[in-house]
Amino acid sequence: MNGTAVERQLPTLAELTWEQAAGRACVWCKKLLDHGAVSAGVIQERDGAHVLDTEVWAGPCCTGP
Ligand SMILES: [Zn+2]
Repeated sequence: MNGTAVERQLPTLAELTWEQAAGRACVWCKKLLDHGAVSAGVIQERDGAHVLDTEVWAGPCCTGP
């Protein structure tokens, strides 16, 4: 394991809000993150030659016990 959150199917970039894509909101529930966020993984997409890989984050709201 590398410290990321439990494996879960990530949404596509098209499904993300601006805040989620910017790492400001939880990728699962859209709650704004302030502390305790952990990486939920990287959404890997391409647009032609452009790599659009986007790291997304989850908060305690979705990663806590
Ligand atoms: Zn959440």
